[in-house]
Amino acid sequence: MSCEYTKMIIGMDDTDSREGMCTTYLCALLKDELRSFAKLISEPILVRLNPTIPYKTRGNAAVALLVECGDPERIEDHVAGKVGSMACLDNENTNPGIVFLTEDRFGDAKDKLSDFFRQAVKDVITIGEAKELASELSINYRIFKNGRGLIGALSACGAMLDSRWDHTYEYIAYRKMDSWCTCRSVDEPSVFEADRQTYPDTWDTVDIKNNTIVCVPHSGDPVLYGIRGKDAPSVERAASFISSEPVDRICIFRTNQGTDMHLIPVSEISDIEEMHSYILEGNVFSEPVTIRGGHTIFSLKDIKGGIIDCAAFEPTKNFRDLVRNLIPGDRVVVYGSVTERTVNIEKMKIVGLVSKYEVRNPPCPLCGKRMKSAGSGQGYRCRKCGTSSMFAERFEVKRDVTCGFYEVPPCARRHLAKQLLRFEEEDIPVFPSR
Ligand code: ATP
Repeated sequence: MSCEYTKMIIGMDDTDSREGMCTTYLCALLKDELRSFAKLISEPILVRLNPTIPYKTRGNAAVALLVECGDPERIEDHVAGKVGSMACLDNENTNPGIVFLTEDRFGDAKDKLSDFFRQAVKDVITIGEAKELASELSINYRIFKNGRGLIGALSACGAMLDSRWDHTYEYIAYRKMDSWCTCRSVDEPSVFEADRQTYPDTWDTVDIKNNTIVCVPHSGDPVLYGIRGKDAPSVERAASFISSEPVDRICIFRTNQGTDMHLIPVSEISDIEEMHSYILEGNVFSEPVTIRGGHTIFSLKDIKGGIIDCAAFEPTKNFRDLVRNLIPGDRVVVYGSVTERTVNIEKMKIVGLVSKYEVRNPPCPLCGKRMKSAGSGQGYRCRKCGTSSMFAERFEVKRDVTCGFYEVPPCARRHLAKQLLRFEEEDIPVFPSR
């Protein structure tokens, strides 16, 4: 009996909650389980979507696998069964979606799903829009509860169909199920060694300035650690240096992490919308202030006079020192997401610095010593020589900052933010966070 083989993309999203699970783990598990009746024919994909979406559990991730199989229905049943039994369905914010896209639909779906993916990274999409697209393209899907996960599942399929996006890699090691929700055991010196041996081909494994490990999460999910880097061999090599508790399984994902795919260049603040992420140039308008909680905030003015707050939040640590050195008139380009009319700065290019002046008592023209105040509104007087002046002396002070491209430290990095080490040479100095 001959068997017809077909390719199939499986897109999945929204299976986890803050208490446990992780959609990337389900993907890794299915990649291994499906091996007995399907062939994996591409790297699994992990896409990060709009980072401002309030329904997200952590990093707004969605995943996709591309397999070749003889019995698509068997795959569908297996995947849907696994999601049904492992997703955190009791949590009101967990609304899984799975998309099964067979080869016969690839041609028709490619352009629209690829656009949908790009829109999901930058924009806000409704469940209705996702369902409409799936029915327009006759896409086979399964949803649980309100099915919000369909948005991410379709996006991940779009990413799998379209290889024209910038990408990096992540090697994720998962914990044995019986150790989930317990304290992770990862040998710290081995993680620093992994970084030393493979940086800058891998990044954000540790934060040198803040002396902290970044690649090991603290939540109750199954991830033991995740190594990010430029290609699969580099992340694999870094992982080979790490000593830890037993690893259940690993998965290497191709991903849009570290690509700035979420950012939209904008020239006028009036065009800015909530829950979108931008690259915006303007002049510092108000002196940076540090408010309760340690967040440093200044306002930025564009060419048309529009004004918006820009924030270096407390978790960005030493990056706030840079921001505190700005003064009104400095010209900067900020990169970040907008929520509550505030740009959450991920990176900043300082393109122009104004001169900074301070005032002091004027010198006596006879003896050269600084005059004393002659009383409120009465200028200055030299007690020894009797000379006087109505004016203070204005002098330029050295700025504690230079023009250049700066980023938040690895411990505060957002998944989609492109690391400065990934930028091509620019005509402005680049100051990576280490
Ligand atoms: P984790 O990172 O731990 O996997 P998560 O942060 O990915 O979790 P989800 O549980 O997947 O969070 O929840 C995000 C939800 O938001 C999903 O249902 C997804 O389909 C939906 N979503 C993703 N992008 C958008 C968007 N641009 N507009 C509207 N909804 C979106």
